Amino acid sequence: MKKVVKFGGSSLASAEQFKKVGNIIRADESRRYVIPSAPGKRFSADTKVTDMLYGCYALAEEGKNFDKELEAIKERYNEIINGLKLDMTLDAEFEVIKKDFANKAGKNYAASRGEFLNGKIMANYLGYTFIDAAEVILFDKDGEFDAEKTNDKLSKRLSKTDNAVVPGFYGALPDGTVKTFSRGGSDITGSIVARAAKVDIYENWTDVSGFLITDPRIIDNPVGIDTITYKELRELSYMGAGVLHEDAIFPVRIEGIPINIKNTNRPEDNGTWIVESTCQKSKYIITGIAGKKGFCSINIEKDKMNSEVGFGRKVLNVFEDNGISFEHMPSGIDTLTVFVHQDEFMDKEQQVVSGIHRIAKPDTIEIEADLALIAVVGRGMKSQRGTAGRIFSALAHADVNVKMIDQGSSELNIIIGVSNNDFETAIKAIYDIFVTASI
Ligand code: ASP
Repeated sequence: MKKVVKFGGSSLASAEQFKKVGNIIRADESRRYVIPSAPGKRFSADTKVTDMLYGCYALAEEGKNFDKELEAIKERYNEIINGLKLDMTLDAEFEVIKKDFANKAGKNYAASRGEFLNGKIMANYLGYTFIDAAEVILFDKDGEFDAEKTNDKLSKRLSKTDNAVVPGFYGALPDGTVKTFSRGGSDITGSIVARAAKVDIYENWTDVSGFLITDPRIIDNPVGIDTITYKELRELSYMGAGVLHEDAIFPVRIEGIPINIKNTNRPEDNGTWIVESTCQKSKYIITGIAGKKGFCSINIEKDKMNSEVGFGRKVLNVFEDNGISFEHMPSGIDTLTVFVHQDEFMDKEQQVVSGIHRIAKPDTIEIEADLALIAVVGRGMKSQRGTAGRIFSALAHADVNVKMIDQGSSELNIIIGVSNNDFETAIKAIYDIFVTASI
């Protein structure tokens, strides 16, 4: 048995947290490859080291003095080193970082140092080999992650190393320049390493015991999810469910490796299993509810649209030409609606409207702003009669007006558009009808 274990920032924010992580790793010798994040918040008003690095580098970039800010970052690491009574110092690394900041080595490089330095401490603490992610996580010259090249190089490297620490979040371009993934990207690194080492399980350790059915900021103490499929998770995380980076499932999916989300502060909890497929039924018909505010709909009407070949293509071309990606596109006989992110669309709305008029010659175009989309996701919905009926009657009882409905033919999810103001009420109503009512 071989495992990759990734620890998030809150699991590595202090020496105390590091000790818990050390105990977890030492308790199971199959935990052979470790992916650390940068130290996160020790308490809610604290600042993550990654954010401190961004702030510090912003000063360097403006040519201002950043000594105090860099010293505060060093202090965070020294607190951990001293708390663990390690025989090491990061003085030499900080000298290099200081020079690189002054030479404007780049924002990505700056942010990556959080994981790099934490990886150094972790390797020393565990007695594992340190592998710099810049040598094994590779991006192409356009800055796109190069999955196959990385997999080749990394698997060769790991086959020679029984136990290693690979810092999360970053890699390098072909010329060696450091490049990071988007925020929370250590989850992706963990998945890449899991694939390359062909491990049995990718354990992703964080500060919650797995996924909850919905957002705890909206529902008090929502129930947890025991098992979820990659596809369900993709739908939910795309629609805003946190915990795991939305791109983290792609590498492990290639090898069918399950991900187990675990809680560093409650290691005995089972957490959530993310799997390719399962015969385990979810406890409720739905697996999860997620959603986002801040969408706009562009409603386009034209008589006899149904018989005009190429109408949809012409409309979508206008969005493409303006660099706007669309989320959903429900249509009627003579109407077509395109849902887009309001912040992406706002500045370009008049170009889009005139572009559509010019190319597709519709009768009218109407824009509606401040909409929210809610995804109700569940493998249990397939072929189950009455699920949509229950959702919409619950929403009607809660006095929520439904503006859009979109159900993919996979029957894995139903997307509902409501006004931003109805967002929380709608999620409560759906949660209650499927979960509270069956407890
Ligand atoms: N430290 C980075 C962040 O705060 C990456 C990570 O934690 O995964 O986003």
